[in-house]
Formats: sequence, structure tokens, C-alpha cells
Amino acid sequence: MIYVDEDDPIEDDDILIPYRDVKVKHNVDPKTDYDIIKDEELGRGSYGTVYLCREKSSGHEFAAKYVHVKNKEERRNMENEIDIMSCLHHPRIIQLYDAFDNGKTICVMLELISGGELFERVIDEDFVLTEKACVAFMRQICDGVGYIHSQSIIHLDLKPENILCLTKTGNRIKLIDFGMARRFDPAKKLKVLFGTPEFTAPEVVNFDEISFYTDMWSLGSICYLLLSGISPFYGDTDLESMTKVTVGKYDFDDEAFNNISQDAKDFIKSLLVMDGKKRLTAAQCLEHTWLKKSPKQTTALSTTKAKLKKFVIRKRWIKAVNTIIALQKMGAKIDFDLV
Ligand code: AMP
Repeated sequence: MIYVDEDDPIEDDDILIPYRDVKVKHNVDPKTDYDIIKDEELGRGSYGTVYLCREKSSGHEFAAKYVHVKNKEERRNMENEIDIMSCLHHPRIIQLYDAFDNGKTICVMLELISGGELFERVIDEDFVLTEKACVAFMRQICDGVGYIHSQSIIHLDLKPENILCLTKTGNRIKLIDFGMARRFDPAKKLKVLFGTPEFTAPEVVNFDEISFYTDMWSLGSICYLLLSGISPFYGDTDLESMTKVTVGKYDFDDEAFNNISQDAKDFIKSLLVMDGKKRLTAAQCLEHTWLKKSPKQTTALSTTKAKLKKFVIRKRWIKAVNTIIALQKMGAKIDFDLV
């Protein structure tokens, strides 16, 4: 059984590679400096594929994210991601190590996070999910988001897939994927129309002004899901999810909330607020009673875990279907054996 240790992370332990300023290398093949292990696919995002790779000179392993840039917009997004990542240095944030731009393909070498996605981890048979464990995770997420905001950056795609565990057994997490992140300029009104509908704030869906508080709504949805196994604004289609977000209605009536403390519900309520300016900031979250004084009870949240399993399986299916569609678009022929 894996009981999450509830100590706060020792910062230096979690810095896997030294912080460094990355200059993009143009027209240099990444294979000059790295062995890319194509058999070891670590994951796929909406734009790219992530493989295990090894630096030839040091033998150190990294995650190589390959993105085929098909148009100007995709190029701009990738350049934006590199630019933003190269100025973020924090133990709770994925670190950029190297970057290659070969015109059609951009490849970034990222610090390797080997524990897998947080939600895959918590549904593991051996993992004991308790409210205390959720506090340990949420505290780190708020710490990382607080740092991002202190650097005047808004992540804009905080969702379960973008929270990775450092190892298969410890409780340390890191935030990844800055593909949608934006710099905040107080002199300009920032509006965006993207994100993952289930976890996106109402101001995004309504195409209203966004700010740091936009990330805090996503944290509220993630926390609700982690504690109950239910995604509060899930809809069968993106449109349905967006409608639910704009209505912003949720409750704690499900049996999964029976063993959840009032402090935890109060924490969620302070984030899932329609008026963004009234949401807690990341710094205020860390001062909230729920995160400050970890709950004493360590009851295993079995109903939550069963529901989380269903959520993760649904995500796996969506990912698989998207991968097939992407491969077919690239010309691959896929035969299905129906057993
Ligand atoms: P992304 O395109 O950045 O959203 O990444 C897609 C998927 O690849 C993620 O959901 C992770 O499962 C995996 N992944 C991304 N970055 C890393 C990393 N640094 N180490 C290990 N796995 C990663």
C-alpha cells in the first residue's frame, strides 16, 4: 500500500536538472546531441508527441517533445511556450533543458518526470487516497501556480493531465505544458478562446477579460475532482461542458463528499466563484485553513477512487480516439480487430 507522505517537499531534492538559460538551436538535428528512444513514448498532447531521450555527453535522460508545426499559429504557440518556460525556474514547474527549431519541427528537451500523470497514480491499486493526500497535492499545485503568477504568467490550461508525479512512490508533483500560457500585461485587456472546456473558467467561455484568477477556477475544478472523482462541469460534448461552466452550478450532494471535511468544501467554494476577482489567489489558498492545517483523518476515499477510475478510463478512451484521428490525418491506415 502506498500512503502519501504528507511532509512538505524539500525543495533541493526536486530540482532534477540545474536551471539554465536556453537558447534555441536552429537547423541542428537533436540527434546530434541526444539518442531519441522512439519506442518509449511518454505521452501525447494536442500538438506533439513526447519520447524518452538520453543526452550523449552526460547519459542523462530527458523527455523530448516533438511538435510538427503546420502553420504560423502553431509556430507562434511553440515559440511562446519556449519563451515562457525558459524564464520559469521552480521545483514545482517542469524545467526546459534544450530547444531545437528545424523549420517544420520544433523539439524541446524537458526534465524527465517519471511518475506519470497524477490522476493515473492515485487510481493505482496500491495507492491509498485520503483527504490528507489531496491536501499534500493541492498545496504543491498552489505553490507552483503562485510562482507562475508571480512571474506575470497565466497557465490557462491547468487540468489533471498537466500535473505529473516526480516518482511512482513519492508525493511530489510538477506542473507541465505551457503551450497555452500567456504573459499578463496590466495595460492590456487579455481575452482568449481556448483551453479544455471542463476545466476552463467562465470568463474564457464568455470571451471576457481573463487574469490570474482564470487559473484559480481550474484549480477549483481539479480539487473538486480529486476529492470526489466527479468532474463538476463535465458534459458529453465540449458545448455541453461550456454551457455548464457558464451556468457555474455545482453541489456537494454526491455520496463521495460524505467523508470530505467542511474546510475542503469551503476551499472549493472560494475558487469556483463566477466573479473571478472574488476567487482566492494562489497565495491566499496556501493560507486557507484546509491547506494550512492538514486534516487529521486519513479515511481512505474509496467511493472517490472508484469514480476517479471511471474518469481516467474515459480520458484514456478520448486520448486513444484522438491519436487514431491524428494518425489517420497523417495518412496511417489502421485496422481494428474486433474480438
Ligand atoms: P504535453 O504535450 O506537454 O501536454 O504532453 C503530453 C503528455 O506527455 C503529458 O500528458 C505527459 O503524459 C507526457 N509528458 C509531457 N512532458 C513530460 C515530461 N517532462 N516527462 C514525462 N512525461 C511527460
